[in-house]
Amino acid sequence: MNRARLIATAAFGLIALAARGAEKTAPATPFGAWGFDLSGENTAVKPGDNFFEYSDGTAVKNIVIPPDRTSYGAFNQLAELSEKRVHGILDHAAATATDHPADAIGKAGAMFKAFMDEAKVESLGAWPLAPDLAAIAAVKTPADFAALQGHAQTGFQGSLFAMDIEPDAKDPTKYAIVVAQSGLGMPDRDYYLTKQFADKKAKYAGYVTHMLTLAGWHDPAASADKLIAFEQKIAEASWARADRRDPDKTYNPIGLAELAKTAPGFDWAAFFKAAGLGAPSQVVLNEKSAIIKIAALAGATPIDTLQAWAAFHLAANAASDLSKDFVTTSFDFNNHLLQGQPEQKPRWKRAVAATELALGEAVGEAYVAQFYPPDAQAKMVALTHDLRDAFRVRLEHNTWMAPQTRKKALEKLAAFDFQIGYPKKWRDYSALQISTGDLYGNVERSTAFEWAFWVSHLGHVVDRDLWDMTPQTVNAYNNPPFNEVVFPAAILQPPFFNNAADAAINYGAIGGVIGHEMTHGFDDEGRKFDAKGRLHDWWTPEDSKRFEALGKRYGAEFAAMDIMPGAHINPALTMGENIADLGGLTLALDAYHASLHGKPAPVIDGVTGDQRVFLGWAQVWREKVRPDAARQYLVIDPHSPPIARVNGPSQNIDAWYTAFNVKPGEAHYMAPKDRVKIW
Ligand SMILES: [Zn+2]
Repeated sequence: MNRARLIATAAFGLIALAARGAEKTAPATPFGAWGFDLSGENTAVKPGDNFFEYSDGTAVKNIVIPPDRTSYGAFNQLAELSEKRVHGILDHAAATATDHPADAIGKAGAMFKAFMDEAKVESLGAWPLAPDLAAIAAVKTPADFAALQGHAQTGFQGSLFAMDIEPDAKDPTKYAIVVAQSGLGMPDRDYYLTKQFADKKAKYAGYVTHMLTLAGWHDPAASADKLIAFEQKIAEASWARADRRDPDKTYNPIGLAELAKTAPGFDWAAFFKAAGLGAPSQVVLNEKSAIIKIAALAGATPIDTLQAWAAFHLAANAASDLSKDFVTTSFDFNNHLLQGQPEQKPRWKRAVAATELALGEAVGEAYVAQFYPPDAQAKMVALTHDLRDAFRVRLEHNTWMAPQTRKKALEKLAAFDFQIGYPKKWRDYSALQISTGDLYGNVERSTAFEWAFWVSHLGHVVDRDLWDMTPQTVNAYNNPPFNEVVFPAAILQPPFFNNAADAAINYGAIGGVIGHEMTHGFDDEGRKFDAKGRLHDWWTPEDSKRFEALGKRYGAEFAAMDIMPGAHINPALTMGENIADLGGLTLALDAYHASLHGKPAPVIDGVTGDQRVFLGWAQVWREKVRPDAARQYLVIDPHSPPIARVNGPSQNIDAWYTAFNVKPGEAHYMAPKDRVKIW
C-alpha cells in the first residue's frame, strides 16, 4: 500500500493530520493582546543563554501532552482545531449518508460512518483479509510474487518497492514512473542497524508473531523469525535517509530491458504489468544500488519466507481498518513502544484521519466553504509579495555568488508560483465507490482509485494545479519541480497568521513560514532545480563549493547541540530545513523592516519591533515531545527539534544580538565572523 507520494516536497512541519467542524469562528486566542503570550516566557534565563527557554520556557513546562498524543504544542493545537472542524463536517455528512452515495461529501460521510460502525468491524474480525491472504497463499513462482507486489499499488499488500507517478525531475512537464526502496516493517533502517533502538528491535518478533497469528498464518513464530531476517538484509541494503534527499543521486532513469539485466532476481515485467502499467519504456530508480540488492535478495529468498513477509505487511497495513485485536496489536508496538504514546486515539479521530486519507479534497471543499475567511487570501498574497521582495533585495546584495549565478537565482525567484488556501479545482471522486458497511473495501477501493488517477496522467502534460496537501492541513510545502510554494488554508490562523496581532508578530510567524518555503527553493536540495523546475545545474562550480561550505558550517552548529542522551541532530538529514529556517527568519525580519517605510518600529509593553519578530517565530515552537517520539523524529524527520528551530537560526542573525543584548560569554553567543549567512 503506497499512499504517500514519494516526491521530496519540503514541508514546514512534521504534522500531517488535519480536520474540520461545527463552530463558525475561531475560539478566543491564547496569544495575548498583540499576538504573543508573554506569560509563556521564562525570563529567569538570558536570551543569549537559551533563546528557546527564554521565549517559550514557561509555556513548554506547562504543556501536558494528552495521553493519545506523542507531542503537543501550538502547532498541534491548531491541527486539533482543524480536526475538530472536520469532525463536525463528517458527523453532519454521516447523519444523512446512504450506501454508495453519488456526491463527494456524501462519500466522505459514508466513509466516516463505515469507520465509526465498530460493531460491524468487530463482527468481521480477520475475515476482510481472506481474499488478499488467499492471493498470497497462491504465489508459487517468483513471477507470481512480483505480480503480487505490483498489486500492492491498489490495496493493502506490502511491497519491496514503493512506486509513484511524479513530474520527471529533468523534464517536469511530463510524468515519470518512480521506483524506490521499501519493504521494512519498522520506521527506518536505523531500527535494525543501530544500538540506540536495540530494545525496540528486541520486541519486534513478538509483534510480528502476534500479527501473523491474528491473520491466521501458519507457524507464526518461525515465520516471523524468517521474515525479520529477510528485513534485516533489506535494512543493510537500504540507503540512509540523508542520501535519499539528494535529487542527483536519486535520479536514475532506466529502460525495462536494462532494469531486468541490472537488477535480476525480481520479475520487473510482471511487477509493472500487475500494477496496470503494461511494459513502460522507462522508469526512474531512486536508491539504485539498494533496489538492485533488494531485487537480488528477493530472488535468493525462499517463496514461503516471501509469503510470510507479505502476509505480515498485509495485516500490519490493514490493522487500523480491522477489529480491535488488530488495532491494539498495532498500537502497542508502533505507537506505544516505538513512540511512547500512552493511549490509543479515540475512534472518531482515527475515523477522521482515514476519511481524510481517502477523500481529502471532498472534505477540503466543505472546509474552505465553512472556515476560510474571505479576506485571508488577499492578505496572504500581499505578504508573499513582501517576502519575495525581501528575498530579491538579499539576492541583489549577495556577496558570495558570481553575477551569472545570482542572475539565475533572481530569475528563479521571480518565477515562483504561490498557491494559497485551496487548489484551483477540486478532485473528482465520482468513480470511487464508498459503502457504509464495508470499511476494508472502502480503503482498498480508494487506494486503487488514487493509483488509477495517477496512472491516467502518464503520457499527458503535468497538471500543475494538483496539490500534495489538503486545505485543512496545518502545514505548507515547496515543490521544486513546479517551482511553487503552497500554503493550505488551515495554516493561515493563529499563532501563524493572526488578524488581532501586531504586524511584527505576524512577520515572525507566517512571514517566517513564507520565507522558509521560498528558501527551500534555494536549500541544498531545491538549489539543484532551475526556474522552470528542471533538475539542472545552474551554478558555477565555485559558487556550489561556497554554498556547500556554508551549509557544512551551519550543519555543524546543529550537530553540536545537546538534544538527548545518545542521539543527535543529523546535519545532512536536516540541512534543507535548517537552511530554510535561517532564510525564513532572516527574510521575515527584512520584510518587517521594509513594511515600516523608514518609520521607527513601535515599542509595545516594552518589547521592540525586532524582539517581536523573533518572539513571533519562537512562539510557533512552543511544543513538548515524548522522549521515544523525539528519538524517532531525530532519525526520520528532516526537521530539527523545536529548540533547535528557535536557537539555531537566531544565533546566526546579527539583529538578534542587538535586539536581546546578547554578549560574549553567553552560551549561544557567536563572534560575528562565525555567524553563518547563506541567504
Ligand atoms: Zn520545510
